[in-house]
Amino acid sequence: MEIKVLEKDERSMRLLIRGVDTPFINALRRNVLAEVPCMAIDEVVIIENSSVLHDEIIAHRLGLIPLKTDLDGYNLPEECPCKSEFGCNLCRVTLTLDREAKEGTITVYSGELISENPNITPISDKIPIVKLAKGQKLRLEAYAKLGRGKNHAKWQPVSTCSYKYLPEIKVDYKNCDVCGKCVEICPRKVLTKKEKEIVVRDLLACTLCQDCVDVCPKKPPAIQVGWEENSFIFSLESTGVLPPERIMIEAVKILKKQLKKFASQIEVQGP
Ligand code: SF4
Ligand code: SF4
Ligand SMILES: [Zn+2]
Repeated sequence: MEIKVLEKDERSMRLLIRGVDTPFINALRRNVLAEVPCMAIDEVVIIENSSVLHDEIIAHRLGLIPLKTDLDGYNLPEECPCKSEFGCNLCRVTLTLDREAKEGTITVYSGELISENPNITPISDKIPIVKLAKGQKLRLEAYAKLGRGKNHAKWQPVSTCSYKYLPEIKVDYKNCDVCGKCVEICPRKVLTKKEKEIVVRDLLACTLCQDCVDVCPKKPPAIQVGWEENSFIFSLESTGVLPPERIMIEAVKILKKQLKKFASQIEVQGP
């Protein structure tokens, strides 16, 4: 397998992975979406709520606020030695909120949640929770836990995770009269006209839509768009709960564990 990091910043990354097949790359994608744990608010005790929103709506909104996650500092509730429904300091983080609109209407934002652990806080201070009119109050205690995307989307560490085949574009220069129709129609500006030929400007932007092939007046078309076997562009965008490389590493570790478990079950149930 050959891996090349094409782009990476604190929220997203794009990899070129060669030498693997579709089931493998799809297993990685599914693990990123459904198996890599992250923190989210799971239980809320509303002490006082005189806002126009019902308690349940506020609890739901709180659950969807992405929280920075410390994967090494906390246990998944089902794996925690406390075995308690309420959790302990190793599997639960408490956040509190206490706001009152004293002067006029105010908006309560995620940044006003106070966490007992300064490392587990909302990824943004500017996520609106509720508006309070003068005299209205909201007081609550929220409990965040690690969980997995397969149980609830709030525990999904990414906003998107996808892969596509690595495009391969071939121009038959003997047949091409450089009319430029393929350049004009390409929605991703993949192609460009350079002197007296068509060149690929940004191969990775190609979506394999085939519009350039369909528009070519030559029969057969002077341009061919295909893809490289067993080569993929893998993209993921973190919600901010974990760095993208950590999400990838965790997905790989989980895949390794799954395969080990699978192999051991074959051994146990074998002839
Ligand atoms: S549309 Fe066909 S003939 Fe025209 S420039 Fe593109 S490849 Fe060449
Ligand atoms: S297949 Fe679509 S995206 Fe790719 S080069 Fe042709 S028109 Fe552009
Ligand atoms: Zn615990």
